[in-house]
Amino acid sequence: MEKDELLMKRESGWKSINESEKEEIFKLSDEYISFMNKSKTEREVVKSVISLLEENNYKNICDVDLLNKGDKVYFINKNKNVFAAVIGEEAIENGINLIGAHIDSPRLDLKPNPLYEDSNLAYFKTHYYGGIKKYQWTTIPLAIHGTIIKTNGEKIDISIGEDENDPIFTITDLLPHLAMDQMKKSLNNAIDGEDLNLLIGSIPFNSEGEDLVKLNILNILNKKYGIKEVDFLSSEIELVPAFKARSLGFDESMVAAYGQDDKVCAFTSIKALLEIDNPKNTCVCILADKEEIGSVGNTGMASNAFTYFISELLNKLNQNTTNMIDKVYMNSKMLSADVDAGVDPIYKNVSELNNASFIGYGVTLNKYTGSRGKSGASDANAEYMAHIRNILEKNNIKYQVSELGKVDIGGGGTIAYILADKGMEVVDCGVPVLSMHAPYEVVSKYDIYSAYRCYSEFYKS
Ligand code: MN
Ligand code: MN
Repeated sequence: MEKDELLMKRESGWKSINESEKEEIFKLSDEYISFMNKSKTEREVVKSVISLLEENNYKNICDVDLLNKGDKVYFINKNKNVFAAVIGEEAIENGINLIGAHIDSPRLDLKPNPLYEDSNLAYFKTHYYGGIKKYQWTTIPLAIHGTIIKTNGEKIDISIGEDENDPIFTITDLLPHLAMDQMKKSLNNAIDGEDLNLLIGSIPFNSEGEDLVKLNILNILNKKYGIKEVDFLSSEIELVPAFKARSLGFDESMVAAYGQDDKVCAFTSIKALLEIDNPKNTCVCILADKEEIGSVGNTGMASNAFTYFISELLNKLNQNTTNMIDKVYMNSKMLSADVDAGVDPIYKNVSELNNASFIGYGVTLNKYTGSRGKSGASDANAEYMAHIRNILEKNNIKYQVSELGKVDIGGGGTIAYILADKGMEVVDCGVPVLSMHAPYEVVSKYDIYSAYRCYSEFYKS
């Protein structure tokens, strides 16, 4: 055998593309960038995705009585979690082809009683969500996104800080001149969680009394949104970086954006699904919430909502019998579409380079996740790895297989184990990222494209 055949080739995907592929790669990432700029929170992703689903003739499953081959339906779970399906030729009991990504990202949430004043400055108190390095969230422009529900059920959506004409908000940090004590602290506790307070105003209300700046802010909010202080008690308001998603580099080969973990996989997997007509197997896309805090709660992957959706498919296909859902799960195949840590050359000592993913080298598979002795790992079976390799190799899709970091350094997990627990074949499969969980994350346009192609071919398989 020739040397080239014996050795596994691992190299940048940019080396082997032609002009028309390059055009496709850039076209897809332009579409991705505009999706990202209107979808910063899970609720906003759900909104964007509903309009994509409707444009592509998907129907809300609640409005459908009977399902047939080729039908396209979706279910929206509490405005934060989406399931979408195309019914295949094969009986659903032979299994579905499932791709699941998550649409929540690390951020700062407002506390239930957020508003206070100190020294004639008004602030919002925050509570961080997901694994963040707290110091990264100070002194950057932040936007306020969220929903306030009044007791009469009226819903007010807020998005301020994205338009060029909007104000932005920020969390201040100590000047270096006076930071001698702070600078001695470890990065981990240099910024206290209780000090992540958002600066929101400084003009006092024109009257006598205490906390007049706070009062003035409430007056502005009342004029703009018709709310009172008490209405924060029934709100979900998130602070996200006010940065736009943009092309990165002189060669524009990368994308910098907030929340690419895991919206880069959410975008590519739903796009792949929308292009599927009359598939062999029923195809399903999950966009889950709450992955960053352990997939808990009624919009997280561990909730029974997904089983409810699959049961509804079975009911409306007239195929629901005792035990049927278990049969569906046991015969199903899944890609857990989540990002992976790309090797950062500045910090490459945390990676074991033989088993690390590189940005620009294509979609990345993690046979298993977990940490230390594979604790908490969802470990894909070799048979299933072979099945996925076959799809990728047959279709000339560049891929890499890696682990998240060196063995004893750390680790991570995704939604994979939750579906594996139901008996499905599952493997993690996504896009490598630099600066994961930071306010501005980096991915390669080549990898966005190869993830999208991988998800498309998986649905067709
Ligand atoms: Mn993720
Ligand atoms: Mn994450």
